Amino acid sequence: MDAIRRSFFWSGERKTTGASCLVSWDKVTRPREHGGLGVRDLKVQNDCLLLKLIHRLHTATDSSWATWVREHADISSMEGDIAGTHWAKLQPLLPLYQAITTVKIGNGTTTSFWHDAWLDIGRLADAFPALASHAISTKASVATVLAAGVRSQLIPRLSRAATLELFAVDDFAVDDLISGTDLSDQRDIRCSELLKPDGTLSTAALYKLVKFVWHNRAPPKVQFFAWLVVQDRIQCKKHLMTKNIIDNNACDLCATGIEDTHHVLFGCSFARNFWDAVGADLSAASTTTPWTIEWPASVPAKHRDCLTLLCFWQLWKHRNGVIFRAEVPSLQRLFALCREEANLVALQV
Ligand SMILES: [Zn+2]
Repeated sequence: MDAIRRSFFWSGERKTTGASCLVSWDKVTRPREHGGLGVRDLKVQNDCLLLKLIHRLHTATDSSWATWVREHADISSMEGDIAGTHWAKLQPLLPLYQAITTVKIGNGTTTSFWHDAWLDIGRLADAFPALASHAISTKASVATVLAAGVRSQLIPRLSRAATLELFAVDDFAVDDLISGTDLSDQRDIRCSELLKPDGTLSTAALYKLVKFVWHNRAPPKVQFFAWLVVQDRIQCKKHLMTKNIIDNNACDLCATGIEDTHHVLFGCSFARNFWDAVGADLSAASTTTPWTIEWPASVPAKHRDCLTLLCFWQLWKHRNGVIFRAEVPSLQRLFALCREEANLVALQV
C-alpha cells in the first residue's frame, strides 16, 4: 500500500522508479515539525489505531464489541475463545499497550500480574526477572495470582536468585510489595501520558512514539529502554532519591550535575563528548523528544531513529560499566560497540 502511495506522491502513477523520488519516504512520513512532510506511514498509523482498540477493550463501558470480547477472552493476556485475522493482528500489540500504560488496580481481572505496571516499582517481569522465569505462566492476571497466592503460580524448585526476589530483599521483595494490594469490585483503571481528556488514546502522540521507538530494527530490549527514556523513567539517582532509596543524586562521573535522564544521555561531559564526536546536533532535542536529534547528512534518514536508540543503549551500558564495574571510560570502545550493534541489525552507517 505504501509503495502505491509513494508512486502516486512522486509521479501521479501507480508505479515509479527510485530516481523520481526526491527525498526518502521515511522523511516524507516524518511530522512537519521534524523536517518531514507529515504524510502518515500507514503501518505505523494502523498499529496506532489497533492500540486504540486494545485500549477500548480494557476501558470502554459503552461498547458492545468490547463487552462481547471481554466475555470470550481474558483481557489481561488477550487469550481466549476468539479467532480471526482481526484478533490475530491485535494480540501481538498487547506488550506495546502494556508498555505505554500503567494501572490503578480495581478487581485485577484485566491486568497482567507480570507484564503490566500496576505497582510503583514498574513491571514485575522487569523488576524480578529471576522470579518471573520461574512462573508456571507469566500470562496470569493480578486477580488470579492474588487469589491463589504467588507461590502457587511458581514452579516448585526456585533458584537462589528467585528465592531472594520472592521474600528476602528488604522492602523490594515481591511478597511484601503485593501484600498491601487489596482488590475491590471496581474495574482496573488504565493511565497513560498519551490519554486525551476524554480517556481515549491520542493518535497524534501515539504516532510519534510508535514510529520512533517501535518501528525500527533495534532489539526489543533497546526499544524498551528507549521507551523508558522518552517517559523519563530510567533507573537514575534522581528517581531513586525521590523514592528515598538514596540521599545523594549527584552524578558519579562528573560530580557536577544531578543524575537524571537528560544528564545521563545528553548533559554529562562524557555523553556530550560522544554526541560531538559522532556529529549529532542536540540543540533542538530533549530526551522526551529524541527524534529531534539532528544527525549528519551522511547517516541515511531511514536509519537515524534506530541509530539514536542504539547509541542511547550503549551510552547507558558504558556508563554503568564505568560506575559499577570500575571500567575505564573510552569513547573509542563505545564507538566500536555502537558500530558492532548497528552492524548486527544491518544498518549501513
Ligand atoms: Zn555527569
